[in-house]
Amino acid sequence: MSEKVKNGIKLAVIIFVSAAVGLLLGYLVSDQELRYMFSREYRETVKGIEIYTCGTINEENYMAHRSMLAYAPEELAECCDKIYFTGSELPIPANDTGFGQALGITQGRIVYVSTQTYGADVVLHEMFHAYDHEHGMPSSNDGGFITAFREENERIRLAAASESLLASEFYAETGAMYIISPFELSIRAPRTYSYFNSVLGLYED
Ligand SMILES: [Zn+2]
Repeated sequence: MSEKVKNGIKLAVIIFVSAAVGLLLGYLVSDQELRYMFSREYRETVKGIEIYTCGTINEENYMAHRSMLAYAPEELAECCDKIYFTGSELPIPANDTGFGQALGITQGRIVYVSTQTYGADVVLHEMFHAYDHEHGMPSSNDGGFITAFREENERIRLAAASESLLASEFYAETGAMYIISPFELSIRAPRTYSYFNSVLGLYED
C-alpha cells in the first residue's frame, strides 16, 4: 500500500471516530439522567415512582414538591418511573426545543424538577407531560382536547416557542389545574375542564 493510501485511510478513520465520539457526546449531554446519575440520592418510592434528590436541596421546598404526589391519581402516577428533584435550575437539553433553564423537564417516563422555588405544582405539570407522552400525545391528537385548546388557550397564558409546544404546555398546565384547582379551571376554561373530567373523572359534573 502506498504511503498516500495509508494516510488516506488514517484520515478516514480519524474522521469516522471523531464523528462517532461527537454523536456519543451529544447523546450523553442531552440525556438528563446521566447528568444526575452519580449525585443522586434515593429517597423513597411513592405510588410506584422512584424518588431521588440530587445535590444540595432546601428540605422545606423539597417536601412541598414531594407532597404534590399525594394528589396524583393512579392514571398519572403510572406514567412515571422516576422523579429527580434538584436544588438548582435545570439546563434544557440542546436537542429539545427551547433554550435556557427550566423548573421542570420531562423525558419519556422520567421527570426532573427543580425545587428552587416554592411553586410545587410543577410536579403535576411535568407528570401530565409524561401522561401525554405515554398516551400518544393527546395534546396534539385528541379532537376533544384540541377543540378545548383552540377555544380556551388564550384565557390561560403560557409561554411556548411554537403552536405545537403551546398545545402540550396547555395540556400539562390545565391538567395540573384540573387536580389542584378544579373549580378555577371549570370557570376559566370549562371545555378543558370537561375534557380532563371525561378522561380522569375525578369529580361529579
Ligand atoms: Zn411544560
